Amino acid sequence: KSTVKVIGAGLAGCEAALQIAGRGIPVALYEQKPAQYSPAHHYPGFAELVCSNSLKADRLESAAGLLKEEMRQFGSVVCQAARATQVPAGGALAVDREQFSDYITRRVRAHPYITVREEEVTSIDPDEITVVATGPLTSDRLSAAIGALLGEEYLSFFDAAAPIVAADSLDYSRVFAAARYGRGDADYLNCPMNKPEYEAFVQALLTAERAPQHDFDGRQVYEGCMPVEVMAARGPDTLRFGPLKPVGLRDPATGHRPWAVVQLRKENRAGTLYNLVGFQTNLKFGEQKRVFSLIPGLQSARFMRYGVMHRNTFLNAPKLLGPTLNLRAYPKVFFAGQITGTEGYIESAAGGILAGQNAARLAAGQPLLTLPRDTMLGALVGYISDPYTSDFQPMGSNMGVLPPLAERIKGKKERYLALAQKALDSLHRYLYQNGW
Ligand code: FAD
Repeated sequence: KSTVKVIGAGLAGCEAALQIAGRGIPVALYEQKPAQYSPAHHYPGFAELVCSNSLKADRLESAAGLLKEEMRQFGSVVCQAARATQVPAGGALAVDREQFSDYITRRVRAHPYITVREEEVTSIDPDEITVVATGPLTSDRLSAAIGALLGEEYLSFFDAAAPIVAADSLDYSRVFAAARYGRGDADYLNCPMNKPEYEAFVQALLTAERAPQHDFDGRQVYEGCMPVEVMAARGPDTLRFGPLKPVGLRDPATGHRPWAVVQLRKENRAGTLYNLVGFQTNLKFGEQKRVFSLIPGLQSARFMRYGVMHRNTFLNAPKLLGPTLNLRAYPKVFFAGQITGTEGYIESAAGGILAGQNAARLAAGQPLLTLPRDTMLGALVGYISDPYTSDFQPMGSNMGVLPPLAERIKGKKERYLALAQKALDSLHRYLYQNGW
């Protein structure tokens, strides 16, 4: 049987390697450590948690809890390692990071079908079945090779994401749907501000606490994507002439042009999520909730993703990847983990499971898995590979990516539990149909 190449022994790469090997296919796993470390990696073991030691919530009615439960159905090594090395952390699944890494390293190294090669990979052969899982800090030489293969314009090096809110948490009595100058469909929701509201908002923005800048190699991270709080500091009217400009919009409630307008744009095809247009931000998450909730219509908004700005190598996945996680142009080349534009430890690991399964299936001449859209992993991968997604920025697991339930269920906890149950039923059915 031909060997599958997996590049990067991080969270995604280790899951992928074990999934492939578990299907009886030999794996060559390449890892640049310990010869070479990214600016955030320090530990020689595999699956290093570079920052927090938490794998987020473990409750089924949370997006992270549901995703982990789905991963367990595939025998996720990350979930097993987390259980074995857990430390007390309330409702979250937190781990001893060194024991966690050691557990996974042992499992990978002990597998008879996995050969580990400690070297940096600097090129990709589109004719070889490969899983690229080199993470948000992919080495420069491999990034250049990926850019050369796919086109530089399809690779980003910085995350500059605006917050995303749940559509069903907006106050529709305060917002109105309209496109500027009535052009196009009324795809935008507009949050109109009068002068005192605008001034109070700008003031809150200016005094809000910012997150430390994750600028590891000293490079300026903000080229061309200025945070909204930095723009606000340039002058009291800068935002009103920038992303909050009211031109071409008339508030049906007053019949007038508002003083300023925050626009919300549909984030997904189902219209369950909206992003705040032009609101790239480096404010702390709690501060984002406090300050952005001052925007009319957002007073009770649920934030499904907060804005972030940090170094992050990721593909323009909607243009490049299919829901099977391989390149549309080069189907033997799979991508997994943060480099696909999913965000977070468990999301990275989950992508590794799917990419690994599919790489093994391709090697064995079997049909690939496309997970149902009503599962968390299926929805997340569906989101990043949906050509409809524009201005693509990374996305973590959240209940808003799932299609809404047919029936109305009162209470967030009950609704999320029903969504989770539906996801697991759907996954079980799909896996059963595919010979699990
Ligand atoms: P990684 O875990 O980074 O694994 C990639 C592996 O590939 C590494 O071992 C690397 O050495 C190797 N590699 C890179 N290039 C090459 C090459 N050319 N050849 C061979 N090997 C190579 N997510 C959270 O959920 N919580 C957090 O607290 C969190 N903090 C983060 C902090 C930072 C600084 C960064 C950058 C990201 C953070 N993330 C966090 C996001 C993300 O979840 C993690 O980066 C996660 O580790 C990504 O998993 P991965 O498998 O895609 O990549």
